[in-house]
Amino acid sequence: MTQIQEPVHLSGHSAVPLPPGRLFIDGDWRDAVATGRRDVIDPATGSVITTVADGGAADIDAAVTAAGRAFDEGPWPRMSGRERGDHLLKLAEVMKEHREELARLESLDTGKPIVFARMVDLGDAIDQYTYYGSLASTVQGATRSIRRPGFAYTRREPLGVVGAISPFNFPLILSSTKIAPALAAGNTVVHKPAEDTPLTALRLAELFAEAGLPPGVLNVVTGGAEAGAALVRHPGVHKIGFTGSTATGTAVAAAAAEGVKPATMELGGKSAQLIFADAELGRAIECAVNGFVFNTGQFCMGGTRLLVHRSHYETVLGALAEAATHVPVGDPRQESTIVGPLAGLRHLENVERYVALGEGRVVAGGRRLDIGGGYYYAPTVLADVANDARVVQEEVFGPVLTVQPFDTEDEAVALANSTRYGLAAALHTNDLARAHRVAARLRAGIVWVNSYAVLDAALPFGGVGHSGYGRENGPEGLDAYLQTKSVYMPTD
Ligand code: NAD
Repeated sequence: MTQIQEPVHLSGHSAVPLPPGRLFIDGDWRDAVATGRRDVIDPATGSVITTVADGGAADIDAAVTAAGRAFDEGPWPRMSGRERGDHLLKLAEVMKEHREELARLESLDTGKPIVFARMVDLGDAIDQYTYYGSLASTVQGATRSIRRPGFAYTRREPLGVVGAISPFNFPLILSSTKIAPALAAGNTVVHKPAEDTPLTALRLAELFAEAGLPPGVLNVVTGGAEAGAALVRHPGVHKIGFTGSTATGTAVAAAAAEGVKPATMELGGKSAQLIFADAELGRAIECAVNGFVFNTGQFCMGGTRLLVHRSHYETVLGALAEAATHVPVGDPRQESTIVGPLAGLRHLENVERYVALGEGRVVAGGRRLDIGGGYYYAPTVLADVANDARVVQEEVFGPVLTVQPFDTEDEAVALANSTRYGLAAALHTNDLARAHRVAARLRAGIVWVNSYAVLDAALPFGGVGHSGYGRENGPEGLDAYLQTKSVYMPTD
């Protein structure tokens, strides 16, 4: 593979080689056909880190052609599941070797605190390759007993070329939740990362190629809506794995349907946390705070609607105000930082617009923070909001929590289920029967009891309603990249 990049020095951190406006196609760097470029901005300072290609339809076509060739003629789909599994386990090892470099790159690109980039983003992304590496050998068909004499069996086969489209908030994790199971199943992949945060996708593809992943098995085209739409519509793409907003997802689902392509759609959320009268209050408040400040609120499963039994309403508001005011906000490179900047100016302005609607009493925050030219917003708690307020019903995607009181279990469940979304929910109670009863009644793809945001490569997640369809993680996540073929041969 040709080494063509000059190392770029990243804000005083160790040198990381970045491709200056190139795409990773067919196992090597390639100049984009599209002439447009996008600046990649450091959200902590507003300064330009580097520029990447704004890929277009011709670039997608080149990547899909390479992926199609790798699928039709290359070794990857023809290997045994065990062999592919071994490759994925090796990729996990390569990520571990480059853990610190990738964590710093992810933190620089997204503005997320380095402690979380290391622990959560790298931890969970590596786990995808480890988990699906282990699962790859379990893919198997079955013999079937049918009425005619003969031998009937099923084969579990890959789908072909997968178009993977990921959002800006967890670039490594949410590309890995697609790439790892897709590769384990024997597919080849074209990945289009988010326009704001493309850096780790490019570096990872390069590292994987160096680690022996055959050419064309994983291709990366940077760009925005144009590249994404071209990928979804390309006739050489057989499956779409998409994570992003409900608005974009609706267009992607429609385009996929037009091409009769299966799609996994991981979309927006407005998840509720319920604190019942019998909850262990200290733990519940801790979950409430983490649920809305984690990743600066740019978390699809953020617990952004807090529903509190009226007996605890004022106590919880007081504790939230205290915690939100003291959570360490600042430079994501500092080890002590818990809340970094928002990932871009447009995200900051969006949060400002929602708070400016004035739909709730500001108990904490409610303003920008002037730190080093970055896109910072103070963790914000809004009390006394009406259930039909926009800030309660719409995804703000920033560190903003709304708090509403309830009197009965039925009312709490009705409020929790009252948005068009259904991604996640949490409930806090010490009543065992209530825990299971309410978990069953909540309209969400995942429910946490006395905890929040516990995610694992083995535990499926995904949405209902406008939060999408299909599941990532677990055996379900692998199934999403397989299809069944039936084979019959007479024996008489
Ligand atoms: P977005 O919808 O703006 O973009 C997502 C991706 O789609 C990007 O790569 C973008 O370039 C691409 N895209 C844009 N227009 C396209 C088109 N017409 N066709 C194909 N691709 C197109 O989302 P975002 O702002 O990057 O991410 C935030 C959103 O993602 C939030 O709504 C959040 O809830 C959601 N999200 C969901 C999950 C989940 O698991 N359900 C996880 C993380 C984020």
